[in-house]
Amino acid sequence: MTTQLIQRDWQSFMDDFQPLALSHQFLLPATLAILIYGLRYAVMAGVVFLMASGGWGRPHANAPVVFDRQRHVRRELVYSALTVMVFGGVNALLFGFGLIDRSLVYCRAASYPIWWFWVSIPVMLILHDSLFYWIHRAMHHRALFATVHRVHHQSVHPTAFAAYSFHPNEAVVEALIVTAIVFVIPVHPMAFLIFQTISTAYNVYGHCGREFYPPGTASHWFGRWLNTSTAHAVHHGQGHFNYGLYFMFWDRWMKTTDSAYR
Ligand SMILES: [Zn+2]
Ligand SMILES: [Zn+2]
Repeated sequence: MTTQLIQRDWQSFMDDFQPLALSHQFLLPATLAILIYGLRYAVMAGVVFLMASGGWGRPHANAPVVFDRQRHVRRELVYSALTVMVFGGVNALLFGFGLIDRSLVYCRAASYPIWWFWVSIPVMLILHDSLFYWIHRAMHHRALFATVHRVHHQSVHPTAFAAYSFHPNEAVVEALIVTAIVFVIPVHPMAFLIFQTISTAYNVYGHCGREFYPPGTASHWFGRWLNTSTAHAVHHGQGHFNYGLYFMFWDRWMKTTDSAYR
């Protein structure tokens, strides 16, 4: 009898707190994602922005003489904050609805050989670059540009804070591109975290308005395959060419490089 009473009370207790449990299920992953993506971005973009402002690296050839940077930075910061919120929302849905359980994410390190942990990181970079190249080109199509990608290109002379300066529509696309990877290959959460940190760093560098690679990188046997801040500055300045993210493979194969890279 007592056991039945306890069971009944426990059931009614759980029923009362059902909305709380549900919000917890969505709120926790959203909060964690916002904290991780937001803090990492704020620190990396902040440091690189200060480095670029302090004259580190070389200016790009298309660097403006006069530039109302403050107004542009304000817009980039607002859209970057929105992007971090969107990333939080995508993670809330992914974890809240249990979709992540259908992915190939593995938490037991012993599930795959240790070499795969390290190899999965460059594999993720190559996959991300490939998906990004083709989806980026699609976003430049007339049908999609205005509603998805124009906000990012409002930064004709981007700063480090342009790295996440996306319209929310594009932020969803960017989040889904990265999410798709864990449904294609087995990924340990720690390897994913390293991959995303490299991704943020490279993205911030690509938009910072300064070049840190040595001169002649575009014609170097190895450097010619790397995307650079110089190449991405041309993309922002001209609105086409150099669609890649980390590499120039697809741009070279598809002949979408600008004249300096040909
Ligand atoms: Zn673009
Ligand atoms: Zn860009």
